[in-house]
Amino acid sequence: MAQIRIENLRKEFGAFTAVRSSSFTIEDGEFFMLLGPSGCGKTTTLRMMAGLELPTSGHIYIDGEEVSQKRASQRDIAFVFQMFALYPHMNVRKNISYPLVSQGMSRADVRRKVAEVAKILRIEDILERPVGGLSGGDRQRVALGRAIVREPKAFFMDEPLGALDAEFREHMAEELRALHDRMGATTVYVTHDQLEAMQMGDKIVVMNHGVVEQFGVPQQIYDWPATKFVAEFIGTPPMNFLDFEGTVPNGATQVALGEAVFTVPEQLTGAQGALTLGVRPEHVTLSDAAPYRAEVLAQEYLGTTQIITLRTAHGLLKARIASDVPVRLGEVTGVLLDARKLTVFDATTGRALVSKGNQEALRHG
Ligand code: ATP
Repeated sequence: MAQIRIENLRKEFGAFTAVRSSSFTIEDGEFFMLLGPSGCGKTTTLRMMAGLELPTSGHIYIDGEEVSQKRASQRDIAFVFQMFALYPHMNVRKNISYPLVSQGMSRADVRRKVAEVAKILRIEDILERPVGGLSGGDRQRVALGRAIVREPKAFFMDEPLGALDAEFREHMAEELRALHDRMGATTVYVTHDQLEAMQMGDKIVVMNHGVVEQFGVPQQIYDWPATKFVAEFIGTPPMNFLDFEGTVPNGATQVALGEAVFTVPEQLTGAQGALTLGVRPEHVTLSDAAPYRAEVLAQEYLGTTQIITLRTAHGLLKARIASDVPVRLGEVTGVLLDARKLTVFDATTGRALVSKGNQEALRHG
């Protein structure tokens, strides 16, 4: 059980800064996702938390105790890597027992603990099998068994499902989450897959170029992205952006795109110049009578829904609507945007203008 707190963490490799001033807190028992594109610094952050890499500056606390300069072996963390390296010449039981045997635990205790772990992972029937012939899923379970058996304070996982095919990956993701719910141990999980992060995480940190863009629960990050980067990185298709020049007085609740005026969810702080209105595809609907006009450019049928690509005076807009709504390519139609769900960004900085709805999200950003 562990709370992990990161304060102004920074890592430089020579002249290159991989992680810049990251701060966030992982609460005891949370399933916590470090999410971002390749090279954004998530693995480096995890390795610093684990003690495999020393920070250039900043602090790491586990249960309130500063561990920034402590070795990995002094932090009581179990690391599960993507390439779950098992000992090929040992059977499943010996692989799982290994960390306990090397600690000098008695044979009877080792047997008891391995039996407990095998039950949790539902691999009792393969304990005596050599690891060589196991399926990918069973190998992953054995690797997890070896991590769990030590009863560490926290589990760190770096893209553990990365090597698996899509269907099996989803199955293992569910299994990992269920395992976490049974054990309740703090888990920190690195992924570049936004769906995996949304599906599994209690909280998500979104990183880009070594910077924490946003930190919060999945719904908060999806509904109220703190930056345009987050709005685009999360969601398929991503959030739409309509660019416009404008002035937003302090406390305004409306923005104007040309002739069209859109009410936004909460009061905005003043901003002017290049602004961007953000709206998710499922919050766009077509309505003949609506004054904001758009031309239908493309239609993508997805079964229960369809994605309609529209050309507006302020950029392209994708709408996710029911698949039985009739739409004709080339037609000009009216567009409604759900006023409760709009985000306004400063186009230059990419940051959302603070509104009541997303203040919480921005505070963590
Ligand atoms: P990926 O999913 O591709 O591993 P990531 O978000 O985990 O990406 P990191 O592995 O943390 O990214 O790497 C962040 C940046 O730091 C990358 O540009 C990487 O090349 C650089 N980097 C990482 N380790 C080192 C190192 N030991 N020496 C120099 N540069 C490094």
